[in-house]
Amino acid sequence: PERKKALHPTALSIQLTNVHKRYGRQYVLRGANLRVSRGEFLSLMGESGSGKSTLLNLVAGIDRPDDGQIFLFDQDITDFTDDELTHLRRRKIGFIFQFFNLLPNLQVFENVSIPLMLRYGITAGPERVRSVLDQVGLADKAHHMIHELSGGEQQRVAIARALVAEPEIIIADEPTGSLDRRTGDRILELIRSQVHAAGRTVLMVTHSERIAATGDRVARIRDGQVQDA
Ligand code: ADP
Ligand code: MG
Repeated sequence: PERKKALHPTALSIQLTNVHKRYGRQYVLRGANLRVSRGEFLSLMGESGSGKSTLLNLVAGIDRPDDGQIFLFDQDITDFTDDELTHLRRRKIGFIFQFFNLLPNLQVFENVSIPLMLRYGITAGPERVRSVLDQVGLADKAHHMIHELSGGEQQRVAIARALVAEPEIIIADEPTGSLDRRTGDRILELIRSQVHAAGRTVLMVTHSERIAATGDRVARIRDGQVQDA
């Protein structure tokens, strides 16, 4: 089927147009619009329950809108099949989940290897896994089981997993929520370097004004809509 093209295919990596999403009778997003440029780091704020995670899930193709359109790069993903969404997610998106979503009975190394295996096949690069574990300060824990780690260590595994396959879009749901300030700042610097060194796009949810200010721009969800700064 023919798919609609985004208005500015070269400049935007994420575009939401009049997006609606409800759960049962509860309307969460009611006409949300958002544009994020390539190479931009956008912080997203909003009260608890305002729909931040919902919006991230829609952008990542984990969930679908009831109405409106979502574009990633020049593709309208709104009508993608489940297979197309899965394929796109594996190729383009690194998602740092609020509650990590790690596989508890696998080692750190295996968890971080998964996106590489899904993308390139089973032989994909142990060097890359080691390098990204080193960047998050977990080189010495590579062969620990996930359930042996602290919350902060698990969060850093989740970050390593999201970055390992060098995705063009990084989606982060409170990525430093379990980290002490110094470790959190180091991780933010790592995320920020993805944008400025490699031209990637970051969409990051945070509750902290201080952390939000790490981004290039801050948007807020309120009453089901996104208010751009
Ligand atoms: P935030 O991340 O901003 O705290 P969420 O996007 O997680 O908020 O949730 C927004 C609202 O939608 C909340 O009221 C939440 O209870 C509801 N919600 C989220 N996901 C579901 C779901 N899968 N089923 C039913 N309600 C949901
Ligand atoms: Mg949330």
